[in-house]
Amino acid sequence: MLPETAAAPLDVLRRVFGYDSFRGHQAEIVEHVTNGGDALVLMPTGGGKSLCYQIPALVRPGVGVVISPLIALMQDQVDALRALGVRAGFLNSTQTPDERTLVEQEFLAGELDLLYLAPERLRVESTVRLLDRGRIALFAIDEAHCVSQWGHDFRPDYLMLSHLHERWPDVPRIALTATATPATRAEIAARLDLEDSRHFVSSFDRPNIQYRIVPKAEPRKQLLELIRTEHAGDAGIVYCLSRRSVEQIAEFLVAQGVPALPYHAGLDAAVRAENQSRFLREDGVVMVATIAFGMGIDKPDVRFVAHLDLPKSVEGYYQETGRAGRDGLPSTAWLAYGLADVVQQRKMIEDSEGDRAHKHRLTQHLDAMLALCETVQCRRVQLLNYFGEQAEPCGNCDTCLAPPEAWDGTIAAQKVLSTVFRLDRERGQRFGAGHIIDILLGKHTPKVEQFDHQRLSVFGVGTELSEAEWRGVIRQLVARGMLAVEGTYQTFGLTEASRPVLRGEQKVMLRREPKRVPRTRTARSA
Ligand code: ADP
Ligand code: ZN
Repeated sequence: MLPETAAAPLDVLRRVFGYDSFRGHQAEIVEHVTNGGDALVLMPTGGGKSLCYQIPALVRPGVGVVISPLIALMQDQVDALRALGVRAGFLNSTQTPDERTLVEQEFLAGELDLLYLAPERLRVESTVRLLDRGRIALFAIDEAHCVSQWGHDFRPDYLMLSHLHERWPDVPRIALTATATPATRAEIAARLDLEDSRHFVSSFDRPNIQYRIVPKAEPRKQLLELIRTEHAGDAGIVYCLSRRSVEQIAEFLVAQGVPALPYHAGLDAAVRAENQSRFLREDGVVMVATIAFGMGIDKPDVRFVAHLDLPKSVEGYYQETGRAGRDGLPSTAWLAYGLADVVQQRKMIEDSEGDRAHKHRLTQHLDAMLALCETVQCRRVQLLNYFGEQAEPCGNCDTCLAPPEAWDGTIAAQKVLSTVFRLDRERGQRFGAGHIIDILLGKHTPKVEQFDHQRLSVFGVGTELSEAEWRGVIRQLVARGMLAVEGTYQTFGLTEASRPVLRGEQKVMLRREPKRVPRTRTARSA
């Protein structure tokens, strides 16, 4: 067993964890916390956050108390540490009272190096008294962004963590997260009383991940093509919005010979645990999941993360895609995105519970995500800018590899908007994208005939673009808030932002998808 004193951090790194040297800011952070300093650590997924608190916990006298929301993973984390000879335990709601008592006794007897604690445990007065009676080396607050009420992953129990410092003023605290914009970072520091502590901010860049966002046409076919041509036999994660589509896509992949498993909160706990453990232990399993899956999953060789639905925020997208390529080898982050996604998400926000400020927040999150999808610039530059970092075009994303054209879509935008305007003003009618495009293309469909829309002055004025191109135009107008999505039938109306375009006062530059994104540097060929 480790002696309680004298071990130097580097010794512990080598002897216990079997690594030669620290990476990035690890050495600095470990030294600072070992000496009793507080710290806020921002490091991308796979950057090596765990050692930043594990080693100080081993070097300092007492038990390192790790607050983590990842209850489902505690057993795995503790097992992995025990396999290294680290005396670790956890306390959470999945245990029987007897199991908890045992861990409590170990803690009090000083027989633990690390104690993992679910945040809700701190609501229990007996847990607080227990901590009072033991010797605490440090508090590590993992997934610290969960304290941010405006973030994408708020956990109310995290708010109580602000009291740690009042109750145990002499115990150093280290808060860690892999996702935070400058604003969220400030909020974490304020809520956890870490404003005066040292902040260690690593670059969020994950150079080995190739970011690609493609127009959604036939998502299943596109996904299968991605897997077959670039990631056959690789482990990957496919994210879907709904439980139903998780199950359908998993079935589809299995039918196509891809070893896929479903994961969502509606599945039986035993099935979830089984699927998760197969994904972790077997090679080449594709997990089809809702965002319920993935936080804290440490599988180094996930070669691709595919999104079949649009994430709600850039933070979510970054965190989910960050599960690819923790081992540093080339990996793919692939997202298929289309008009229906924008319409659906705008609508979900409209229908969501909560006050105006809340909806405004959600809209801002979505707008940033849409800006990433619609950009004609380097995806990585855009992504890193969002997290407050400057960068140069990366050469390893779809827009760098096959630059999309930007074209002057002002007239096309005016045609769409004036169609919506005429339908509404002259007839008080609202329609969806399909019908608007039929009018622009001059198609005599039954619906056109029924409403006499061939008599509109805009009928047939849009034959210069194909149906797919019109969808692209409408998608981008919705993405930029120049068209509003309304009502149960997801019809379109004008917005404040439509007016200057209709009046010819504002130019609208649009993105034209490259015809075919050439297959480029990928997991295999790099
Ligand atoms: P994070 O929590 O930041 O996502 P982890 O702490 O899980 O990252 O570390 C990611 C991977 O990198 C793990 O497999 C870990 O063992 C490994 N790792 C961390 N630090 C080092 C290091 N200094 N040398 C070699 N491997 C490391
Ligand atoms: Zn790029």
